[in-house]
Amino acid sequence: MQSQTIVASNGNHVTQDPEYMIRASNVVKEYRTGTSTLQALKGVDFAVTRGEMVAVMGPSGCGKTTLLNCLSGLDDVTDGQVWLEGVDLATLSDKQRTESRARRMGFIFQVYNLLPVLNAVENVELPLLVSGVKPREARERSREALATVGLERWATHRPAELSGGQRQRVTIARSLVNDPAIIWGDEPTGALDSTNAGEILQLMRDLNQSKGLTLVLVTHDPGVGAGCDRIVRMRDGEIIGEERPTGTFSIGELGVSHGTEDGVAMPSRTLQTTRENYGRA
Ligand code: ADP
Ligand code: MG
Repeated sequence: MQSQTIVASNGNHVTQDPEYMIRASNVVKEYRTGTSTLQALKGVDFAVTRGEMVAVMGPSGCGKTTLLNCLSGLDDVTDGQVWLEGVDLATLSDKQRTESRARRMGFIFQVYNLLPVLNAVENVELPLLVSGVKPREARERSREALATVGLERWATHRPAELSGGQRQRVTIARSLVNDPAIIWGDEPTGALDSTNAGEILQLMRDLNQSKGLTLVLVTHDPGVGAGCDRIVRMRDGEIIGEERPTGTFSIGELGVSHGTEDGVAMPSRTLQTTRENYGRA
């Protein structure tokens, strides 16, 4: 399914398949430390269509975070190409890539990265203020984003006064505040107990369905994988396979049992099913 690349009038390289939110071809990432070189990504091909919710899973050190950083343009690739909404990231300057992240992407990490001295609404509005939005509008949008994640009543509370699940909701609100097209999550439930993890997954699924948001979630958590449209499996810097989770899934043991229906587009699972996945943990 190789698509043709054309050069648009602004000089950007544009693929002719705009249904892809993100596409990567033969991405190699090497880390040089002293005299040795470590190949963290060994020629990865990857694509996510608009509105898809994808989990990237694999053992610690297999390259999940590296993949996320390379696909989102946070880090340079050593070789290969990455297109975001048809635009080849290599054709963008650093400034353009930063702008594209600010405009089109949201990020959710395992550690909340909230500023302790700011309350919830101030944390959420910060990226807007940094990108030049007027304070009054920033505050309004920040309050809306907090309402979306069910925290409107907690707007003036500081992170220390919020539970782990609530803090992660604040970071989700912050990732939504610029109305992004794609959200990248790196272990978004990694610091949460299973009840909170289930609620956060449910919230992300809800955003996916109500706003058509594309989500790419790097995760160890089988419950998160089960709640996604597709699981991409990585090992040792490579993608070794992918599957579509079915509704039947049990969590809580390492020998996770789950059905797959390769190549069959599964209907979106309901939020209820997502909660049940965790209910069994
Ligand atoms: P994962 O997120 O799957 O746990 P990472 O993408 O963080 O894995 O790491 C993949 C490999 O790359 C690991 O061997 C890790 O030690 C190495 N690595 C990651 N970041 C760096 C870095 N900045 N410098 C050198 N090696 C790195
Ligand atoms: Mg990682």
